[in-house]
Amino acid sequence: MKVGIMGGTFDPIHIGHMLAAEAARDVYQLDEVWFMPSHIPPHKLESGATGQMRLEMTSEAVSGHPSFRTLDFEIERGGVSYTVDTVMELRRAYPHIEFTFIIGADMVNYLPKWHRIDELAGMLNFIGVNRPGSSLDVNLLPSFLQKVVKIADMPLVDISSTLIRKRVAAGESIRYMVPDRVYDYIVRSGIYGIQSGTAD
Ligand code: ATP
Ligand code: MG
Repeated sequence: MKVGIMGGTFDPIHIGHMLAAEAARDVYQLDEVWFMPSHIPPHKLESGATGQMRLEMTSEAVSGHPSFRTLDFEIERGGVSYTVDTVMELRRAYPHIEFTFIIGADMVNYLPKWHRIDELAGMLNFIGVNRPGSSLDVNLLPSFLQKVVKIADMPLVDISSTLIRKRVAAGESIRYMVPDRVYDYIVRSGIYGIQSGTAD
């Protein structure tokens, strides 16, 4: 079984994340994609969303898709979420699953700086997707990474979680920038500002 891991802060999850996962699933015929919000110490979060809330929004987002799941692995473990530790644990817990890691172009370019990337690159492949503002050229990566980074095309989506948080705080609409159920969650909980829900 082939599983793609879609990791991120997901503060909040938005359609860029959903399309990235779907493109990777489609192009590389993944059986499932597991969305895994990372643990972040509360004082480092830019927003009022707790790990539990980011997990709940992620669950809402994936709920309609037959092969998307949520993984609470890193939030449950707490501490700093190093991908290399997570992947080692995942491989122990699911020895028969072949994992790949789905990342946007900004993260692809940052890969050489990831914690213990040489070890990580020996354990799994990455699927990189295009994202506005970052070039996506595997040839620019060190050769040990060129071997493990594959590309899946997705429609360019110029949306970030930072933009969503700013728009909510400013009372601007975020409808259709996030899945409907995530929209409802944000309006209901008021997490990104007292004005959330005023622009509908
Ligand atoms: P923030 O603005 O808080 O950094 P973000 O929108 O970048 O949020 P993250 O949770 O940081 O979202 O990203 C998780 C993963 O999703 C990363 O690999 C990132 O590159 C990818 N990603 C995020 N937004 C997009 C997008 N619009 N298109 C393609 N990939 C994306
Ligand atoms: Mg980001």
